[in-house]
Amino acid sequence: MAAAPFLKHWRTTLERVEKFVSPLYSTDCNLRGRLFGDSCPVAALSSFLTPERLSYQEAVQQDFRPAQVGDSFGPTWWTCWFRVELTIPEAWVGQEVHLRWESDGEGLVWRDGEPVQGLTKEGDKTSYVLTDRLGEGDPRSLILYVEVACNGLLGAGKGTMIAAPDPEKMFQVSRAELALFHRDVHKLLVDLELLLGVAKGLGEDNQRSFQALYTANQIVNVCDPAEPETFPAAQDLASKFFGQRGGESQHTIHAMGHCHIDTAWLWPFKETVRKCARSWITAVQLMERNPEFIFVCSQAQQLEWVRNHYPGLYARLQEFACHGQFVPVGGTWVEMDGNIPSGEAMVRQFLQGQNFFLQEFGKMCTEFWLPDTFGYSAQLPQIMRSCGIRHFLTQKLSWNLVNNFPHHTFFWEGLDGSRVLAHFPPGDSYGMEGSVEEVLKTVAKNRDKGRTNHSAFLFGFGDGGGGPTQTMVDRLKRLYNTDGLPRVQLSSPGQLFSMLESDSEQLCTWVGELFLELHNGTYTTHAQIKKGNRECERILHDVELLSSLALVRSTPFLYPAAQLQGLWRLLLLNQFHDVVTGSCIQLVAEEAMCHYEDIRSQGNTLLSAAAAALCAGEPGPEGLLIVNTLPWKRTEVLALPRPGGAHSLVLILSTGDSAQHGLCSCSSPHFTAAPAAPAACVCCARGECWRPLPTVSRLPSAKTDGSVTLDNGIIRVKLDPTGRLTSLVLVASSREAIAEGAVGNQFVLFDDVPLYWDAWDVMDYHLETRKPVLGQAGTLAVGTEGGVRGSAWFLLQISPNSRLSQEVVLDAGCPYVRFHTEVHWHEAHKFLKVEFPARVRSPQATYEVQFGHLQRPTHYNTSWDWARFEVWTHRWMDLSEHGFGLALLNDCKYGSSVRGNVLSLSLLRAPKAPDATADMGRHEFTYALMPHTGSFQDAGVIQAAYSLNFPLLALPTPGRAPVSAWSAFTVSSPAVVLETVKKAETNPQDHTLVLRLYEAYGSHVDCWLHTSLPVQEAVLCDLLERRDPAGHLPLRDSRLKLTFSPFQIQSLLLVLQPTPELSP
Ligand SMILES: [Zn+2]
Repeated sequence: MAAAPFLKHWRTTLERVEKFVSPLYSTDCNLRGRLFGDSCPVAALSSFLTPERLSYQEAVQQDFRPAQVGDSFGPTWWTCWFRVELTIPEAWVGQEVHLRWESDGEGLVWRDGEPVQGLTKEGDKTSYVLTDRLGEGDPRSLILYVEVACNGLLGAGKGTMIAAPDPEKMFQVSRAELALFHRDVHKLLVDLELLLGVAKGLGEDNQRSFQALYTANQIVNVCDPAEPETFPAAQDLASKFFGQRGGESQHTIHAMGHCHIDTAWLWPFKETVRKCARSWITAVQLMERNPEFIFVCSQAQQLEWVRNHYPGLYARLQEFACHGQFVPVGGTWVEMDGNIPSGEAMVRQFLQGQNFFLQEFGKMCTEFWLPDTFGYSAQLPQIMRSCGIRHFLTQKLSWNLVNNFPHHTFFWEGLDGSRVLAHFPPGDSYGMEGSVEEVLKTVAKNRDKGRTNHSAFLFGFGDGGGGPTQTMVDRLKRLYNTDGLPRVQLSSPGQLFSMLESDSEQLCTWVGELFLELHNGTYTTHAQIKKGNRECERILHDVELLSSLALVRSTPFLYPAAQLQGLWRLLLLNQFHDVVTGSCIQLVAEEAMCHYEDIRSQGNTLLSAAAAALCAGEPGPEGLLIVNTLPWKRTEVLALPRPGGAHSLVLILSTGDSAQHGLCSCSSPHFTAAPAAPAACVCCARGECWRPLPTVSRLPSAKTDGSVTLDNGIIRVKLDPTGRLTSLVLVASSREAIAEGAVGNQFVLFDDVPLYWDAWDVMDYHLETRKPVLGQAGTLAVGTEGGVRGSAWFLLQISPNSRLSQEVVLDAGCPYVRFHTEVHWHEAHKFLKVEFPARVRSPQATYEVQFGHLQRPTHYNTSWDWARFEVWTHRWMDLSEHGFGLALLNDCKYGSSVRGNVLSLSLLRAPKAPDATADMGRHEFTYALMPHTGSFQDAGVIQAAYSLNFPLLALPTPGRAPVSAWSAFTVSSPAVVLETVKKAETNPQDHTLVLRLYEAYGSHVDCWLHTSLPVQEAVLCDLLERRDPAGHLPLRDSRLKLTFSPFQIQSLLLVLQPTPELSP
């Protein structure tokens, strides 16, 4: 124990030590002032400015002009390349030499054509180590390039971080020099800072705290900054303190280097490519200098970018992966949003990610890594387990605004009962810096004290990249095992989870979704991105299905596997947690829309190609191929194109006994041929009757009060003269669905001013500002008069700047009424919703989630209930009491709520940061209302929501369309949904299909899958398409039996019989 100071004065002792290490005060005589020794300017500096993001090879060939320290460059998103010529003084032989570089923006040092160091002031990286010890014969003259991106670690927000970027921002280089670095001073500074941390962190009640303070004080006494000979004695004092070991019961902290890089956020996708290079080359330097340092890295997409743009750096990452120092984690293509992506899209995150990790790093990930996403679907545990993952790490629930999540280490049980071991780093961050304060917080805040004695500690600058520094590593190494502090081990997720696993008997279980009580506006912000997401999920579903069928039916057809992989990866990229959520800058939103446009256009081309292949060789008239891509019969009104751009409405019947040429009667996918016109022939071609019945009628109102009634024999819809729904009756039971005295289809506006996170948050208090939008009587008009479709439409002025038009449509045979809506939206901080008060009473409502649904309360009893004032859903939500209910369907919305008896769909927001233009302009969307008797399951709500989202396809065929209806698959139970049909990700010659089905009702069920395809072998597989060794399914009479538990997802491989042309 070091000698105590003469006087017992805590504050003066503490501040004395603080001043000794301060970078601000007393640097003329303190230790910090001695960190660097002699310096000299660089020999020559020149620069080249470009708006492009050039490769090194391109950049160095440009015309560099003389530059000097103090120069400005820019503006935002440009790049300034500096050529730096150096001559190290001969007198510095034997010493450590750094290039000290300070500039705004993010820098990357290049040496001999390879990146060697990332430099950012914000990320505490302003030094490039030229040599640890300059040798006699070492070259002393060299040329480096520094590539400086004109954006900060967190973009270029004007004024505040999340404000829209300032396009005019200028940047400056403020230091470029060579300097001697005093490693011994650095070590002492690290020790003194840690001692100060212990003294402050443990506080004046703690014996060890005083020991730390007095040790630090004594170091100041013995250490003369001007006399390096005094340093060893000071070092000895520190070593004595840190060498005093803790007891056996010490908590162990698993410190892992990490660098959260948002794949796009306050900067565009292309800048992320460079952020990866800057951050990871820095990590490589640290791995090289510190063999015990482990760096964990997620997101296959980012690794793929680095592979393509920085092959030299990538090779080094692979090398360090072999040593176990570079640890790929997560298993997904990007760190996606946890709420909005469809179930199938979530599966593809893992399929694309895990296959990439296996191919590039020799193994798949064993933990799902999603530290920064705005909530986690209750289906994730099942998806993880079926993708080879048993462990999950995040910390985002520490952001909950209302309730503290009760665990840091626990079992998370999903919708189907699957369990994973989940861990939230108790320090509630993924960007730790290795301070004593953080280490103590990790122990103190841990909500599973006494249940488990290990926890994670993720250190390194994050969000915009940056990553760890040598100082952070030095701190954590020093805290390896010191009495009074937890043990700190530089570790990996594998080591952490194996310790947690072995110590898991006492852990609690959390069942269901991990709902984030914040960022609930992200279900709605950037409606066009949401619409693109839903639409592209549908397109890829349809392309895969049709291409699979074409593969079976047409020998020369080549399944577009590579193209589909490319399109899926674009969709998955857009599902990143700051893109599909709408919490990105305008540049990113525009790029995302381009990605969707690529998927749409290429997807439609692929659909046409598959349609053409399906029609090839069949006799029949040229014309249209009508395709049902859903696994059940459908009777629907379809608008068929006619020459001259017009459409004609046709009722497509899919009756059980009509498919006379079909391989299966109650069938799916079900398609038939049709000539372009007249429409009625479509059905004639299928041998069916088209019933030109006036199945929808507009009842003339007795009082001519301007109201309109639509009736298709199933439901009767009554609209008031402003377009609001005054009555919705199930005709057969005469049951009214709208609450007495209330009106549905009521648009409401709210003030929407969050506390800070504008695009992200909608606060509870917005509900207090509800204002119904009232229309003018007489704006309602009849649209389509009747026949197979009846409709009415109206205009509504939402505000002086925004207006809405809506067509309310009722089709023959359809159990729901649709609301086609167009909005011209020009608002600031307003939230538009539409409400439907139901004549239903229930304490809970049901919402669709990935591969299933769940219930949430309709009341605000507890803080956990009212924190869910705004929730997410997928294609439908439902409020049911015994025997009756009302479902609200949508084609591209996610934000929703049910409070009391009012179903509310969130339509549009108007946040101004980080994108001031978010959601301004024209929008088009459809929602639908479906009253029903019985349960929503038995009433077919799930199927109806699918139908709304997957319209029948009418594909023009270049050749002859088949005359006979044909169906590939039938499932005997309506509870089981055949979600996906695709070709297996095996070699291109192999004709194996993957089918994915799930139980959608929440029931145990046995069912039969019937197929008309020539199947040779059927076997169950996991979501990564790996055969289940015990999963062989006997095939009898083209049928195989499947058994499901509630919300279970099952995938199977169907190995097809070789077609004669293919067999040898
Ligand atoms: Zn993030």
